[in-house]
Amino acid sequence: RLHNAIQELKGNIRVFCRVRPLLGDEKAAAASLPISFPECDDNNEIELVQSSENALGKATSKAFPFKFDRVFAPDSSQDAVFEDVSQLIQSALDGYPVCIFAYGQTGSGKTHTMQGPDSISLSSKDEHILGIIPRAVKQIYENTNKLAERGWEYTLEGQFLEIYNETLQDLLAPTGRGAQTNDKQAKLDIYQDSEGHTRVKNVTTVKVDSAERVHWLLARAADNRTVAATNCNERSSRSHSVFTLFLRGTNALTGESSSGVLNLIDLAGSERLANSGSSGDRLKETQAINKSLACLGDVIAALAKGSRHIPYRNSKLTHLLQESLGAGNSKTLMFVCVNPSPGSAQESLCSLQFATKVN
Ligand code: ADP
Ligand code: MG
Repeated sequence: RLHNAIQELKGNIRVFCRVRPLLGDEKAAAASLPISFPECDDNNEIELVQSSENALGKATSKAFPFKFDRVFAPDSSQDAVFEDVSQLIQSALDGYPVCIFAYGQTGSGKTHTMQGPDSISLSSKDEHILGIIPRAVKQIYENTNKLAERGWEYTLEGQFLEIYNETLQDLLAPTGRGAQTNDKQAKLDIYQDSEGHTRVKNVTTVKVDSAERVHWLLARAADNRTVAATNCNERSSRSHSVFTLFLRGTNALTGESSSGVLNLIDLAGSERLANSGSSGDRLKETQAINKSLACLGDVIAALAKGSRHIPYRNSKLTHLLQESLGAGNSKTLMFVCVNPSPGSAQESLCSLQFATKVN
């Protein structure tokens, strides 16, 4: 029985690998790719070949095979990816706590996967390039409308936080009062409410009362990020963003109720940032990122093993997500995003190895 329980828990942690296509100049620069996909029936395998020169100047190479719950090759569309995610979104509506992470080095496709194109073009009609956040909200909204016929009434509330240097920032604060003027903003603190739920004090929560609302919400988050940084891409690659949707349903006809949480997390870039050479703020950032990603790996690995002690409190990210990650019925999906360029082989190897550890 214990074995079954552990298997079940493991079954609730899945890892998908997504390799993005080569972009622009990368195409010409890459003669052969370090990444390949073995031909087999279930193509959920990926192989990375690491080439190097030995001491005698002779080229050597080593192959690293990996297997994940799902592998998406570069030609996989946003549609195809979401098809394999939508079941999990439904689980949140059914009352489960769900976390979906995007892990990988900067430029590997995390934001593309979670959110889609830059928010500037988000209002465009190009629905096929939208990522998981807008698709999830759309699916949830459509399903709540259907469930209303059977007596269910849902409230959907969203919050959007950024974790930068182990400090929480409210991305939905009224624009201009966001991350930049954080000192004027009431302090955001993680606490446990009277029912034992993990909550954030003073955070802005918004009613997500239509599928379109999410575009407004993503735009406001982008605004708040922009005022907070001279280089907003750089800033977002060095912080985690956590979009959380609380889904509470009650059924007046049957007296049932359900309470699910959907967390969609775009993690900070996983690139090994050399500690040497950086100092001051940069060093502090680097250490904060390394620490929180390592802590996330530790927490997920401990959960998968069925360990009794789960080190949630070692980082703000895992503390914030404690309830969603640790509940007996929680479901976790990690996307490991990979840039296929030869120059990224070393980082890709690190990402794939990290993902194997949590799987
Ligand atoms: P990250 O968030 O990991 O830093 P991005 O999501 O910003 O990476 O992706 C880097 C670049 O690659 C962006 O220009 C993005 O549009 C592009 N890109 C990423 N994934 C894909 C994909 N699957 N198909 C096409 N372009 C992609
Ligand atoms: Mg990004």
